[in-house]
Amino acid sequence: MSKRPMAIVVLGQASVPLARQLMAGLPEATLYGLAGRTTDVDVSFSHFGETVRHLFSQGSAIVGICATGILIRTLAPLLSDKRAEPPVLAIAEDGSAVVPLLGGLSGANEVACQIAAALSVKAAITATGKLRFNVVLENPPPGYRLANPDQAKSFTSDLLSGISVRLEGDAPWLNHSSIPFTPDGVYRIEVTESRREGTPQHLVYHPTKLAIALHRTTTLDADELLSQIHQALERADLSPAAVAGIFAPVEEAASSAVGTIAQRFRVPARFLTAADLEAAIVPATPTATDVAIAVTGTPERLISPSPHFTLAVAKQILDPQTIGQPPGRLDIIGTGPGAAAWMSPEVKTILQAATDLVGYKTYLDLVSDLAIGAQRHESDNRQELDRACQALDLAAMGRSVVVVSSGDPGIYAMAAAVFEVLDRQMKPEWQGIDIHVAPGISAMQAAAAAIGAPLGHDFCAISLSDLLKPWDRIEQRIRAAAQADFVIAFYNPVSSQRRWQLAESQRVLLEVRSPQTPVVLARNLGRSGQTVTVTSLSDLNPESADMRTVVLVGSSKTRCITRADGKTWVYTPRHYALE
Ligand code: SAH
Repeated sequence: MSKRPMAIVVLGQASVPLARQLMAGLPEATLYGLAGRTTDVDVSFSHFGETVRHLFSQGSAIVGICATGILIRTLAPLLSDKRAEPPVLAIAEDGSAVVPLLGGLSGANEVACQIAAALSVKAAITATGKLRFNVVLENPPPGYRLANPDQAKSFTSDLLSGISVRLEGDAPWLNHSSIPFTPDGVYRIEVTESRREGTPQHLVYHPTKLAIALHRTTTLDADELLSQIHQALERADLSPAAVAGIFAPVEEAASSAVGTIAQRFRVPARFLTAADLEAAIVPATPTATDVAIAVTGTPERLISPSPHFTLAVAKQILDPQTIGQPPGRLDIIGTGPGAAAWMSPEVKTILQAATDLVGYKTYLDLVSDLAIGAQRHESDNRQELDRACQALDLAAMGRSVVVVSSGDPGIYAMAAAVFEVLDRQMKPEWQGIDIHVAPGISAMQAAAAAIGAPLGHDFCAISLSDLLKPWDRIEQRIRAAAQADFVIAFYNPVSSQRRWQLAESQRVLLEVRSPQTPVVLARNLGRSGQTVTVTSLSDLNPESADMRTVVLVGSSKTRCITRADGKTWVYTPRHYALE
């Protein structure tokens, strides 16, 4: 089953070796360390509270090598649903105590026992059922779903007070517990894929042995299909909670019915390639039944009431994450102009889940430590369309691909390239990819912030690169922008091959705009060697800009303020009426 991510959070360098020792047995863990106090961590953070609350709300397990009180006070405002909360544990800095604090229903006690065993100490378990029976009945392991969770607490209490219980069905994890099952027990724990209500004396677990295979659903109405599936489940006496996953041939990854049905059952949608299908059978055109057989091996039961779907009960529990591939995901992210502080939390979260990074080497270097384990696909900065195509192909293989741009991905960057490729050649296997664009702070915003508020009124952005568009169009646009009195942000002002464009822009602007117009040259924003200088349109020396510079040219209203300390601010007033 897919493991939830885990963050080991440390506040000082002294805890790093202990954290690394624990991580040897916790492959899903990432090490978070307080900036300035720790080095050699996977993710450096500045605000403990913000970081821990973010991780918690993302459902990440949290192991704090810190006092329990810090975690309790930090998370207290967020506690509302014990079924939804992830495991939260506190560990003493010397490794002498392991305390599960929250998330008993999502495995906190089990994680605590695992960590305690690695440290050769005893976990501070306080959950009674877990203590006595070595199992939390409300929290079955992956592969089983409890049909009546609301009754598990009183059921456990009754067992603790000595009521006898019998086990019907097969559940190795219960056999390994210390519950004293007797064949003539008064209470009952039943493990079955059949439909059962359950009572306070009868707990029902559904093993996820049921596969729903779909076929040719692209033109079908998802709700209609869903109600047919539910009817078939009812007729076959199968519980919807026993469904492990929704499976379909990869060519149907685009079918919204597949995604919708998977969502309604709250299970993954998985897609089988021709190769996956061939492993079981070699159909020219697979049917839903073929897909079901490929998923389950030789099924225990096979019910095929429609050409569009088959219900198959496998002989064993199914782990959908190991069958076929997910629909594939493509995130197009912007890192901001440089510094990690300007990268959005959304982008950081996306990077953590990445399997593949696509982009220019410099940008990949900037984010690699946030995307541990992701495969890098570096490319030359000019092969944008090839890069977009490669990213889509990787996503179509079911990977979580992240295309990395600097600044904002939609501003002279990769997002448009991906959509351009999609528009030009819509390969069938690209249809089902889940595409998402995550914004970033663009260079012009960072430049404006560094110098005041030059973009305070209407503005536009113009790229001076004539590699992708002819110069006369650029010149026309500069002239129009100057006449319309926009503040202008020039991107790509100069490069090693393009030396004259900024000088030519200056000439065109001076035809319309005053020589005193303020001009801001912002170089290496958010990176080492950041410089932000102010000059005037007539004094602008185009030689002083390069490809890491963004140039802001004021409107007729843009003003400079020089303060007593000599620092100059540039701003464009919002109130024209106050002139
Ligand atoms: N998507 C990016 C722009 C990419 S085009 C964004 O939204 O910022 C590349 C141009 O952006 C560079 O030639 C330069 O003009 C500007 N730029 C990008 N990063 C910069 C930085 N850190 N400092 C100054 N200018 C930058």
